[in-house]
Amino acid sequence: MDFNGLRKLTKLKTKKYKNIVHVILVCFSICGCDRPKSSEEFISDVPVEEIKKVELVAKPIQLPETPPKVIIDKSSRVTILGYHQISDRGSPSEMRIGVEKFRSQMQSLKDAGVKVISHNDYLLWKEDKKPIPENCVIITIDDGYDDIFDNALPILKEFKYPFTFYLYTKFLGGSGRTLNESEVKELILSGGELASHSTSHDFLIRARKNFSDQNKYEEWLLREIKGSKDSLEKIFGVKVNSFAYPYGEYSDLLVSKVQEAGYHSAVTVNGAKANYASPMYELPRYIIHGNNDINWKAGTSFGGNVGLSNQTNSSNVSTNEEVLKIKFWPRAESEIIDRLPEIRADLSEFNSIDSQKITMKVSGFGVVPSDFDEDKGIIKWRVPRKLRVKSTSVFLSFVDPLDETNKNISWSFNLNLSAYYLPEYGENVKKERELMENIFSQ
Ligand SMILES: [Zn+2]
Repeated sequence: MDFNGLRKLTKLKTKKYKNIVHVILVCFSICGCDRPKSSEEFISDVPVEEIKKVELVAKPIQLPETPPKVIIDKSSRVTILGYHQISDRGSPSEMRIGVEKFRSQMQSLKDAGVKVISHNDYLLWKEDKKPIPENCVIITIDDGYDDIFDNALPILKEFKYPFTFYLYTKFLGGSGRTLNESEVKELILSGGELASHSTSHDFLIRARKNFSDQNKYEEWLLREIKGSKDSLEKIFGVKVNSFAYPYGEYSDLLVSKVQEAGYHSAVTVNGAKANYASPMYELPRYIIHGNNDINWKAGTSFGGNVGLSNQTNSSNVSTNEEVLKIKFWPRAESEIIDRLPEIRADLSEFNSIDSQKITMKVSGFGVVPSDFDEDKGIIKWRVPRKLRVKSTSVFLSFVDPLDETNKNISWSFNLNLSAYYLPEYGENVKKERELMENIFSQ
């Protein structure tokens, strides 16, 4: 509206609201079905005296009581990618990827049409507030090397990809190769989400042995988990909502401490897809290595023709070659029809695992009361209530008796939900269970 129009309208505003309604009504009767004029023209065309002649009762506008509901597809699968250094200083390793290789990975996500969403989009989806694509990716970068700023940021900006970066506060502003405060601020201004990776990056479970009693240990945990959040929030004036377990080491105690500290989520290094049912404080993540493509391929393969690689034999496992030999049921990334499947893994590769030191977690169920047969090395658990979601993830953690190290294995499988309604469902489930027995008897 120009200045004249505004002036005229202001004059009119001194009259009663009813008169404005009259103005509009009269205007319509004058203009008939011709192309409507702009509102200021209407107003300026009408002599004020005419306005009073028309009677009209203004009706209140009826607004819908609730906003239209967002339709959320709960079957989406989300790959959380975890990077460390993105740098050409030094040769590529599990923790360091070359800059060009990182760039080509970002490019291939774009070429394959795989959308990158923010961590926050994932949370909004889980709260039924925002839909996300069927298959999508979240980018995370750990530790706080300055190459996030120098090398990753220009590439992420170019592709307009959101990202989350996990810093541990002792590393921040240190010598030479770490991010300084102004770089962190710049990352935040460029759409990066600041998150915490503890205070000292120590092993949060193994450190227990350094303390004489549990209370002292838990006080230390508080400093590591809540202390880092408080200090990042104080320095940068933004909310820090997510935590990354150093070395991916976590337990039920750590989960509860992270929750108590006020985080809304935590990421692990369990290589599996996140889905609608993923526990918020144990979100799986694929650590992307610079010297091999195992996790990259597993993470960016969404089955069918989607994603960047279609590995029919892909084991969606996170650690190393020896783990790839393990027999799973349901098989990694396979589709089953049984809504009450037995979940199994053959761990006989690892000699005599202690049954006290093995845990199975299943998305949507948490830690489950699995049975471990020490003689055969087979762990199993039958799902007790019908699966309702398309994708389920399984996490196994145990202590390898050979070197006393913690091992984490995870994989995902899919459920064909419509098969349940076919008349031959019962017969097909029987066949599927026979197939499992066959695989495990070989
Ligand atoms: Zn780290």
